[in-house]
Amino acid sequence: MSIVTRFAPSPTGHLHLGHAHAALTAWGRARAAGGRFLLRIEDIDPGRCRPDHSDAILEDLAWLGIDWDGPVRVQSEHLPEYRAVLDELAERGLLYPCFCTRAEIMREVAGAAAAPHGPDGTPLYRGTCRALSRAERAARIAAGVPYAVRLDMVRAVAAVGTKLSFREEQEGRVACRPERFGDVVLGRKDVPASYHLCVTHDDARQGVSLVTRGEDLRPATDLHRLLQSLMGWPEPAYAHHRLLTDPSGRRLAKRDRAVTLRVLRAEGVSPGEVRARAGWTGPA
Ligand code: GLU
Repeated sequence: MSIVTRFAPSPTGHLHLGHAHAALTAWGRARAAGGRFLLRIEDIDPGRCRPDHSDAILEDLAWLGIDWDGPVRVQSEHLPEYRAVLDELAERGLLYPCFCTRAEIMREVAGAAAAPHGPDGTPLYRGTCRALSRAERAARIAAGVPYAVRLDMVRAVAAVGTKLSFREEQEGRVACRPERFGDVVLGRKDVPASYHLCVTHDDARQGVSLVTRGEDLRPATDLHRLLQSLMGWPEPAYAHHRLLTDPSGRRLAKRDRAVTLRVLRAEGVSPGEVRARAGWTGPA
């Protein structure tokens, strides 16, 4: 079976060398194996994503010499699909509405002696709304109080029933501990979706067989395997890659304007040179 890889940027700014590295890795793997390379725009965050950035991503990738197979999948066009997944998980009793505001959550955490944090650095939710009665939930929803939807982690892990692991290409099987994330938000207040939900749904829907992405997202794989298992979705292989850094060793980020592909291009740097600076070692 031939491989399917993807590059899934969020259009919150212009692509920089780090993105070029990620895109070239996924594209290169697919092309070397005669497989398929997909492009997906992860734009479910209405506050941070902009259509002009999506357009710029397509243009920058084409300039870099990267071509993709089939239409670009734009997540914001598929919100009903994500809602359907949430509905299914809710019917199975694995979700609950959370009415807490960010400020309330931060206050609770500040008041706790030793607040545990998840692998992504955010404080673990203490489960306040998990304890609400059915009647209390219904009353708040009827009153129009905005709510996010959280996964009941204990129940979700119990529903899966077996120890989960993922296959990291260079290492073999790695044990998962999704409970480290606590009751994660799967549906946000402003949009019935979340990064974890959409990324796993779409990888399954699009038949992605090899997920290549930065090692900063490796911890999230535990959670992604949990969702795949709960939903009966196929399990892709994973190949997490290094993150590019600046000369001082700091990871490249959106703030590093100097290394955006746009700026490099305007400075007259060729696509081949940008590919080299992005760590591309494949054919020129
Ligand atoms: N959209 C995510 C990002 O921009 C990447 C998702 C993934 O590769 O799993 O960081």
